[in-house]
Amino acid sequence: SYYISPRFLDKLAVHITKNFMNLPGVKVPLILGVHGRKGEGKSFQCELVFEKMGIIPVRMSAGELESPDAGDPVRLIRMRYREAAELIRVRGKMCVLLINDLDAGAGRVDRMTQYTVNTQLVNGTLMNIADNPTDVQLPGSYETEPIHRVPIIATGNDFSTLYAPLVRDGRMEKFYWQPSHEDRIGVVAGIFAPDRLSATDVERLVETFPRQSLDFFGALRSQLYNNQVREFINKVGLGQVSTHLVNNPGQRLQFDQTKVGLTHLIEIGQHLQQEQTQLQETRLAGEYFA
Ligand code: ADP
Repeated sequence: SYYISPRFLDKLAVHITKNFMNLPGVKVPLILGVHGRKGEGKSFQCELVFEKMGIIPVRMSAGELESPDAGDPVRLIRMRYREAAELIRVRGKMCVLLINDLDAGAGRVDRMTQYTVNTQLVNGTLMNIADNPTDVQLPGSYETEPIHRVPIIATGNDFSTLYAPLVRDGRMEKFYWQPSHEDRIGVVAGIFAPDRLSATDVERLVETFPRQSLDFFGALRSQLYNNQVREFINKVGLGQVSTHLVNNPGQRLQFDQTKVGLTHLIEIGQHLQQEQTQLQETRLAGEYFA
């Protein structure tokens, strides 16, 4: 099964639990901001923690807030928050509001860019909610009944681009996530558990690609299947793949365990790395000629 870093679990569990307790005279920040490099398992581990704790997440991504047909971002955030509060009431279970990639929707693009009207609205709304978590109204409605407090977890890359008053300690607790060597080994062991990769092979694999983020190893495993998928296509016939799969939705591919060896994995990894370099070079060339 999948690995959760003990540090990660502790941070989330304490934040969420604290928000459901009435600690006398203690001001508990509503938002936990988990930030760090992309692809290091922030969202993934959030989901693992929710499952472990029996928490129902209401999810939104900052991308949704930016979308031109999302309409009013203020309304959207408040609606989702109220939805989570209502779920706590009717289901009698803990809920959280999970906002993925907050800085993508609410941060500046770079130092030279002004905050857009949208990002200002998103920042302002979250600040409002953090300050009055039991009084979150939809625009134009005035209800007097307080709603349940809902802890918010926001993930992101670079929170230094967010509006500073939102990131203030009273409103947001910050957690910088960078997996340790043990964490990386734990996660990769979890990813390859179905393939029964030995502990030493896991370590060797992690040490061969020290600069890669954790999603690289997920991508690597998915590549493993390519050969098997190719064999399947050849067996069924290219023209028959469509009808075959759609009409037998439950069908699982028989996966040959013997084909998973460290050397093969490293080969695939090196190939993936070459693809990354290629992409990087194309991008650099593009910037150079722009
Ligand atoms: P982030 O939110 O930090 O950008 P993600 O949570 O989206 O990163 O993780 C990227 C990918 O890495 C996941 O889709 C998954 O394939 C892999 N991954 C991350 N953490 C784990 C884990 N604990 N166990 C298994 N796979 C993981």
